[in-house]
Amino acid sequence: TSFGFKEVREEEKGQLVGNVFSSVASNYDLMNDFMSGGLHRLWKDRLVSKLNPFPGMKHLDVAGGTGDVAFRILETINSVKRRAMQDVLEDKLQEETQIYVCDINPNMLNVGKKRAQERGLGGYQSLEWVEGDAEALNFEDDSMDGYTIAFGIRNVTHIEKVLAEAYRVLRWGGRFLCLELSHVEVPVFKQFYDYYSFSVIPALGELVAGDRESYQYLVESIRRFPSQEKFASMIADAGFQKVEYENLVGGVVAIHSGLKF
Ligand code: SAM
Repeated sequence: TSFGFKEVREEEKGQLVGNVFSSVASNYDLMNDFMSGGLHRLWKDRLVSKLNPFPGMKHLDVAGGTGDVAFRILETINSVKRRAMQDVLEDKLQEETQIYVCDINPNMLNVGKKRAQERGLGGYQSLEWVEGDAEALNFEDDSMDGYTIAFGIRNVTHIEKVLAEAYRVLRWGGRFLCLELSHVEVPVFKQFYDYYSFSVIPALGELVAGDRESYQYLVESIRRFPSQEKFASMIADAGFQKVEYENLVGGVVAIHSGLKF
């Protein structure tokens, strides 16, 4: 049977996405490496370098899953602090830095907590794991210096609500950054990429996670996601200024950014 994603009603979509990620949580990190040939690591590095994290910052990583983006932010901040070599100030900043990882799926967060421990970040008070919905965040207005969402916005029911919430929780001058699988327009590469995503990815999903359908769904969702330009205009409609995007690997992924002014 075909997966028939188009027939899925709006209210069922959240539930469906929940199932997909419950089923892939334990294999999630392995699959990321498999599917992207390890490239997702570089993409996330790029995202975090655009964020320019600083000691003492309050940051919210939404759809944060198993913590990949949050770990990078914290590790960047720690290296900044080591360079600063100001012990007293360091302790103070250590207290104040807060990176919130928000995800709707507790299974992903639990895997993330375990990984934090393995990385020696488990005892860090600056890292907080929060179960929550990107469309209705449990954080105060104007409370965050930064907001990131990596491979998360594509699967939500209402993109506009997520953008409005991002805008609401950011402080004046705060930065919004979104890393997402996007659209390839380069001719020959596009054909190769379509083949890869429609044939290879579901097959890999079956082979490695025993779950073809979930990965088929992920590929469909990439197709349905708005183009780079369209998504940029949605970010601007949410109120963000200086909206821009950068394509990586010809648009396989794009990083969109905006500022709240
Ligand atoms: N950001 C992580 C990364 O890049 O490795 C995880 C990305 S994973 C593809 C997508 C995540 O979005 C899943 O952990 C899923 O539970 C979460 N998610 C889906 N819908 C969500 C929502 N409405 N609010 C918050 N998180 C959501």
